[in-house]
Amino acid sequence: TETLHIIGGGMAGSEAAWQAAQAGVPVVIHEMRPQVGTFAHKTGHLAEMVCSNSFRSDDDEQNAVGLLHWEMRAAGGLIMEMADKHRLPAGGALAVDRDPFAEAVTDRLLSHPLIRVEAGEIDTLPSEGKWIIATGPLTSEGLGKAIQAETGTDALAFFDAIAPILYADSIDMGVAWLQSRYDKGETEEEQKAYLNCPMTRDQYEAFIDALLAAEKTEFHEGETAGYFDGCLPIEVMAERGRETLRHGPMKPVGLTNTHKPEEKAYAVVQLRRDNALGTLYNIVGFQTKMKYGAQTEVLRMIPGLENARFARLGGIHRNTFINSPTLLDDQMRLKSRPHIRFAGQITGVEGYVESAAMGLLAGRLAAAEILGTPVAPVPQQTAMGALIHHITGGAEAKTFQPMNVNFGLFPPLEGVRGGRRGRKDRYKGYTDRAKELWTAWLEGQPQEAAE
Ligand code: FAD
Repeated sequence: TETLHIIGGGMAGSEAAWQAAQAGVPVVIHEMRPQVGTFAHKTGHLAEMVCSNSFRSDDDEQNAVGLLHWEMRAAGGLIMEMADKHRLPAGGALAVDRDPFAEAVTDRLLSHPLIRVEAGEIDTLPSEGKWIIATGPLTSEGLGKAIQAETGTDALAFFDAIAPILYADSIDMGVAWLQSRYDKGETEEEQKAYLNCPMTRDQYEAFIDALLAAEKTEFHEGETAGYFDGCLPIEVMAERGRETLRHGPMKPVGLTNTHKPEEKAYAVVQLRRDNALGTLYNIVGFQTKMKYGAQTEVLRMIPGLENARFARLGGIHRNTFINSPTLLDDQMRLKSRPHIRFAGQITGVEGYVESAAMGLLAGRLAAAEILGTPVAPVPQQTAMGALIHHITGGAEAKTFQPMNVNFGLFPPLEGVRGGRRGRKDRYKGYTDRAKELWTAWLEGQPQEAAE
């Protein structure tokens, strides 16, 4: 059987190796640590958790990341098995005792008869064989350059500047209206890709005050160097002058408030549709380093967003990731070199759990290809399917930024009421539907969604 090579033994690479080996495929993991380090990793263990020790919510009925836990457990995932084994008490969240966890993952992989670890950095794109690149947000410079040479400068980012993303159904459409600036766009759909929230002068001044006062996160040393031209955090723009935002992302020109056509807004916050389903919107130009608590408070001051629910909050980080919607096929293969798959955070998902999940899929898909046993596409109604669909096609390629799993990525359910109670029913509906379809997919009996 042909050997599968995996570059990077982090969350994604470890899970990919486990899945492929369990399917009967020999695996070599190429890991650069401890010889070559990163600014965040501290040990030479595989699957090291670089920052918090949380796998977030473990609620598999009301939470999308909890559902992802469930799906990974059902697939015999190693990362989840070891996280469960080294779980720390933390209410509804799955907190993990990080060192014993990483040691246990490392031991289990090293003792698998089909897995070998080769130490050392890989800094070129392999020209033959079957490969998965799972080198994560801190991919080494040499390999980053090699990927960039293959994919083009615009298709690989070295940091992310994430504007907050919110659920469309939490926006007050009695205040906001649909319109692109100067009604640009060929089709009606393009003209309606933007939502606008108007501000009076008083609201703008209060917003600037809140931005300036908000608590912010500091950058790591060396994290920002030369990164941010054209991509300043909003609070830094506000610090440069009270009018800066009104001449930048909050400029009110080229827009007419359909609710109050006679009133000229002093400033306008624009939101852009973030996925093909139209369930998510991002706030244009609002990348920020405000702390999460401060962010929700300040952003809910925007008229129309008073009750906004956020699918993900903004942030700016060192993060290497590719433009998956343009570069990868639906099997996570690089279109220009299909013998190479990508997995983990470098594909544009965000978080330990999402990264491990994309490793799980890549490992299974690669193994199926090597063994000549093709698998059906993963149903989009599952958490796994929602994520892979988003990164390989559902997301807007032009504004692609790393994404956490969330219910906004799921195809809607029919016939569930709105409101808070309705939301509980809807989430339960999503998770029930996902579990059924994921179980069927794992059994190799994919079926259409039973709604
Ligand atoms: P990693 O787990 O980083 O694994 C990639 C592996 O590839 C590493 O072991 C690395 O040494 C190796 N490697 C890199 N380049 C090469 C090469 N050329 N050759 C060989 N090996 C190579 N997520 C959360 O959920 N919670 C958090 O609190 C959190 N905090 C973070 C803080 C920081 C500073 C960063 C950078 C990220 C954080 N993340 C967090 C995101 C987190 O990194 C990912 O969620 C997760 O670790 C990514 O998994 P991965 O397998 O894609 O990458």
